Amino acid sequence: MLHDIHKAIESLYPEMVEIRRYLHQYPELSFQEYKTAQYIAEFYDKLHIPYQKGVGGNGIVATLKGGKPGKTIALRADFDALPIQDAKDVPYKSKVAGVMHACGHDGHTATLLIIAKVLKTYQEELPGTVLFLHQHAEEYAPGGAKPMIEAGAIENVDAVFGTHLWATTPVGVIQTSTDVLMAGADRFEIKIQGQGGHGAYPHETKDSIVIASQMVSQLQQIVSRRIDPLETAVITIGIFEAGNAFNVIADTARLVGTVRYLNSDTQEQVIQEMEKVIKGICTSYECSYTFNYEKGYPPVLNHKQEAELILEESSKLPEVEKAEKIIPVMGGEDFAYYLQEKPGAYFFTGAKKEGNHYPHHHPHFDFDEKAMPIAAKVLISAYFAYQEK
Ligand code: MN
Repeated sequence: MLHDIHKAIESLYPEMVEIRRYLHQYPELSFQEYKTAQYIAEFYDKLHIPYQKGVGGNGIVATLKGGKPGKTIALRADFDALPIQDAKDVPYKSKVAGVMHACGHDGHTATLLIIAKVLKTYQEELPGTVLFLHQHAEEYAPGGAKPMIEAGAIENVDAVFGTHLWATTPVGVIQTSTDVLMAGADRFEIKIQGQGGHGAYPHETKDSIVIASQMVSQLQQIVSRRIDPLETAVITIGIFEAGNAFNVIADTARLVGTVRYLNSDTQEQVIQEMEKVIKGICTSYECSYTFNYEKGYPPVLNHKQEAELILEESSKLPEVEKAEKIIPVMGGEDFAYYLQEKPGAYFFTGAKKEGNHYPHHHPHFDFDEKAMPIAAKVLISAYFAYQEK
């Protein structure tokens, strides 16, 4: 049966591409994916697969109960886009100014919808239940996974699997980790309240630009001098805002950035060290500050057996040349929340497009659509294989 299902996926490849290209032309930002959610809902209406919409926001959960007893497996696809102007010259270019599917979530959605369509035709023979988790708002923390879980989306689930089409990995390669696959991603904001004044009289001021500059430089030394070299962390300051006149000493400065880490001990250490640096500098300059640290998505921590199942099942597919374990990437993903609740694994499906080597979140981003049926087959194989576990 698995072989026939895989063949059916191949035969629906044109429709998969059609769905992906339609969604690509009409992208919607995180938490505003109303039309995309409607599109997904209508697809399930046509398939006569029952679903719940408005799950934790714009999320949709469709349920396909097989004719035979078995486990409940959730397959997840996200469907939000990014605030980027599409710069590609292709017929399916985004028709929405300033909004673009620059991460491949259009492809994730097309893949999951076609899986549903194919599995529906085998419903009576299917063991257990397949849950199709269409998640809104992955790109913008606090994200859609958490509220969907809080709404009960995966309450009765035995395991959860998901994939990301990965445009920097060749088609035919499947990558995952039996441990941490993706980093935790946090956001921080520091506001320094100095004392502004005339540019000619610095001794009568507390120059917030000078203070903030010290801070940028010292915060960079946390990773290089205070974190164990065998641990991993990133501190990046992406926004430095201060001043508005050449002859005026800036009253305030604002630094905003991100911290990435692979385990929560390192995360806690980074937070403590940051606090010390900020406090120390502000004490020496006699100025005040606020430090807001928002914990974002935790690391994507795969479950060992489930990740091994992905590698094993992928390597059975003729179109998969390599199924490999990789070291973690420092990007974040709210798939992490599902894995905190249930066994499961997240993996990358190689989707590198010939002649287009732009990374995710780039205005020229695109992926090779031939990766979609591969992703679909691995997910379907995982669902069947998990029944035997
Ligand atoms: Mn993504």
